[in-house]
Amino acid sequence: MNTRSMKSSQTEMRYNGIVIGGGPAGMFAAITAAQSGASVLLLERNDRLGKKLLITGKGRCNVTNHCASQEILQNIPRNSRFLYSAMSSFSPEDIMTFLENNGCPLKTERGNRVFPISDKSVSVLDALEKAMHRAGVVVKKGRARAVLTQGGKVCAVQTEHDTISCDWVILATGGLSYPATGSTGDGYEIARALGHTVVSPEGSLVPLEAVGDDCLQMQGLSLRNVAVKLVNEKGKVLYKDFGELLFTHFGISGPTVLSASCHLKGEHCRMVIDLKPALDENKLNDRILRDLELYQNRSMENALTDLLPRSMIPVVLRRLSISPEMQANSLTKQKRRALVELLKGFSVEITGKRPVAEAIITSGGIKVSEVDPKTMESKKVPGLFFAGEILDCDAYTGGFNLQIAWSTACAAGKAAAGQ
Ligand SMILES: Cc1cc2nc3c(=O)[nH]c(=O)nc-3n(C[C@H](O)[C@H](O)[C@H](O)COP(=O)(O)OP(=O)(O)OC[C@H]3O[C@@H](n4cnc5c(N)ncnc54)[C@H](O)[C@@H]3O)c2cc1C
Repeated sequence: MNTRSMKSSQTEMRYNGIVIGGGPAGMFAAITAAQSGASVLLLERNDRLGKKLLITGKGRCNVTNHCASQEILQNIPRNSRFLYSAMSSFSPEDIMTFLENNGCPLKTERGNRVFPISDKSVSVLDALEKAMHRAGVVVKKGRARAVLTQGGKVCAVQTEHDTISCDWVILATGGLSYPATGSTGDGYEIARALGHTVVSPEGSLVPLEAVGDDCLQMQGLSLRNVAVKLVNEKGKVLYKDFGELLFTHFGISGPTVLSASCHLKGEHCRMVIDLKPALDENKLNDRILRDLELYQNRSMENALTDLLPRSMIPVVLRRLSISPEMQANSLTKQKRRALVELLKGFSVEITGKRPVAEAIITSGGIKVSEVDPKTMESKKVPGLFFAGEILDCDAYTGGFNLQIAWSTACAAGKAAAGQ
């Protein structure tokens, strides 16, 4: 059957295993299990597979990060130890070889990020669909409602229309982010009903909301090469980064902010931005002195244009209680020092994350201590396996989240087929 146009199958069959969820984790788990000799049914609730995969990497799909497995783990802030075995058994090079062998040539860009040469995520989906077809995976449209057990062991999947018998199930229904792609948390309910603990899901790699109107006033402004620190109420630095930050109508976004969001856990925090990381305080003071001398007869708002982006100047001056009209040569030494301090530590008070629906990834999910890290099998229900974002593991941007999907899917697919 053409995997793209899925039809509800009328004939009832028994499969060795059923994979629930046709995202990257589900498709790859189905391929691995089928290549290991199992008869596999892949159930997907949408009309087509890989809806979220298609929007990854802004439509280009950053499939993995071409680095050592150890480095991958360093980019997984939560539960990386749980992933050690799966990552060692199926590395970035392994998924790269798989994709290239299935007609999707790849290229590596800045920061070891790997993309299809076509710059189109559909090339990755095509490769997966081709491999599924070749391995004999049967794809069916349907929404799983429950996994049924007999004598404590998996025996069937109940969908909205029928009940399909099987020996094992791989649950790969994703998380809660971008629900329009089909990831609405069904898998959490299915696993909960079987006695699993679900660590409260929330957004990760998600923009942050901020207090007041400063960000709104600077919306659209993108700062490059800034050093950022996420600091909690006690002054502890939770995350440090260097790179790009964007002001939006609700707060802040951009790569450094998305990564910082992985470390925000309900507490009150502020993002401290060093706008001039290349200059220490003395050098910055000298630089400001030079500008003020050069533009001594200008107003303050016009004297800082070499130093700061236009839209930031009114905000900076307001924070320092300096009138924008004040002449540059009237700035006191004390105010100049305060300006230096502000540029080295521009603080944005964070009120929280944007909703999980807007997050790139879901943090939380199936508690990993209830899952065997080598096989991804449930420690509670024999024959139940997990793969991908449904697990309580999440990583920074750079292809690491998809690598979690590939590696856990490979572990689950092999182990399930071995049953
Ligand atoms: C905008 C965006 C960009 C991203 N870019 C990247 C990137 O470039 N690189 C990267 O590494 N990561 C990226 N990610 C993260 C990446 O998309 C996820 O890590 C990955 O999709 C997780 O795969 P998954 O198969 O576990 O879940 P999903 O991709 O969410 O797939 C789950 C599937 O299960 C189906 N499903 C759900 N419930 C049921 C049910 N009851 N019955 C049947 N089917 C069901 C869903 O319809 C869905 O198709 C991005 C995420 C977003 C939102």
